[in-house]
Amino acid sequence: MTQRTPITVAYGDGIGPEIMRATLNTIQAAGASLEIETIEVGEKVYRRGIENGMDPVAWESLRRTQVFLKAPITTPQGGGYKSLNVTIRKALGLYANVRPSVSYYPFVSTQHPTMDVVIIRENEEDLYAGIEHRQTDQVYQCLKLITRPGSEKIVRYAFEYARAHHRKKVSCFVKDNIMKFTDGLFHKVFDEIAEEYPDIEHEAWIVDIGAARLADTPELFDVIVLPNLYGDILSDVTAQIAGSVGLGGSANMGEQCAMFEAIHGSAPSWADQNRANPSGLLLAAVMMLVHLKQFSVATRVHNAWLKTIEDGVHTEDIYREGVSRQQVGTLEFAEAIIQRLGEVPQRLKPVGYEASPSMALWSKNPRHQKAEKRLVGVDVFLDWELGTPNDLARALSSLELTTLPLRVITNRGVKVWPAGLSETFCTDHWRCRFLGDQDEGVQPSEVIALLQRILAEGLDPIKTENLYLFDGEPGFSAVHG
Ligand code: NAD
Repeated sequence: MTQRTPITVAYGDGIGPEIMRATLNTIQAAGASLEIETIEVGEKVYRRGIENGMDPVAWESLRRTQVFLKAPITTPQGGGYKSLNVTIRKALGLYANVRPSVSYYPFVSTQHPTMDVVIIRENEEDLYAGIEHRQTDQVYQCLKLITRPGSEKIVRYAFEYARAHHRKKVSCFVKDNIMKFTDGLFHKVFDEIAEEYPDIEHEAWIVDIGAARLADTPELFDVIVLPNLYGDILSDVTAQIAGSVGLGGSANMGEQCAMFEAIHGSAPSWADQNRANPSGLLLAAVMMLVHLKQFSVATRVHNAWLKTIEDGVHTEDIYREGVSRQQVGTLEFAEAIIQRLGEVPQRLKPVGYEASPSMALWSKNPRHQKAEKRLVGVDVFLDWELGTPNDLARALSSLELTTLPLRVITNRGVKVWPAGLSETFCTDHWRCRFLGDQDEGVQPSEVIALLQRILAEGLDPIKTENLYLFDGEPGFSAVHG
């Protein structure tokens, strides 16, 4: 007998245990060869005081098996609890979140009968770094971090995925007309890497109009690669317009580990009623079986599932009078699939998994080259509410800063000095830009001396951002206004 593959399984919260039982029953009936290690994650673990929702024994199992089939969990609101999903993705380096959304028309109601879109979402960076601060009485910030290696990894993954899965086009969604540095980098990396794949069409969209077109005409799209937040939002939209969030499965892929889960959450109001659709988790399990090279089992399960959908045996979320034939509960739906193992759909397109897609990932192809960095100034952020921008400029100018003169003051990014407008609304959070000689550069000690003089003046600097040139190009955004 061949050795069974160890995997880690978590039953999760809410509808999690029901859909996991339905999923495991189905794949085991199809002959999946798995050695299952069960771990506890989520609400109960949080309540035991473990703030990331998973204890050390569970982490150890994950690092040993490197394959995780996970039911959704409930993240308690507030109280310092960290999202377990975000922690797992980051801790295990699962940088690529792959979410296919296919419509099953006419068997599942949708306005988009031919849609077949794969969202490839960056999974570790962006606003999900979780670095937030309250800086003044009025102002809070969240850091959006986009890195070159992170962007290269996900963009290359998207093109490799497209090539391996015989897809024709990769689209990128960004907001680089506003975020010229962060989203600008993502777009630049996209353009650079696209050149290495002349066989695949590529295009970039501003995320707002791209999202509108995706929701209205998903047939325009094939593979879409996005930074984390846009991907999080738009993958739910895409799954929903294909038929139901209950149908979407996802793979979180890293270079060593992988996690497979439904895209939806734990839907607590549906729990313990045998009503939830297990399809999202089941299709995630199919992706897992392909990852484990159990191709014939993956094919049998997926085709039997398609046949069940085609036969009109539907759970409540996709049941429609006149389209569906029979409304069933979670476990009966799984039984209906099991009865159809070995069958293929007649009208929906059958699947046939035969080999692992071969993908040359980032670690084999890093493009990054280190730039020469020169300090030329500093943005000092002040907590201040004693007067007008001109008053603040006067107070700062009296510091006689010869090597680092004050050039501009902004409030929420808008220039208020020199020559600001009296109409501009100001908060208690001021960014004061001091810029030295661009050719000579400035010394870090000059920045420290500047801060000491600002403190001595009784002002309250709440943070600084050094201003650098990288290979002679500014590494900081220009000022609006
Ligand atoms: P949700 O996805 O759990 O449910 C929203 C609604 O979608 C449900 O009320 C239901 O109408 C429908 N739905 C979702 N899954 C379904 C299924 N399998 N079958 C039928 N209908 C289904 O979103 P939520 O209510 O915003 O979140 C509930 C909890 O889930 C929260 O604690 C959240 O943090 C957590 N969550 C977990 C994950 C995860 O573990 N991967 C992902 C998202 C949300």
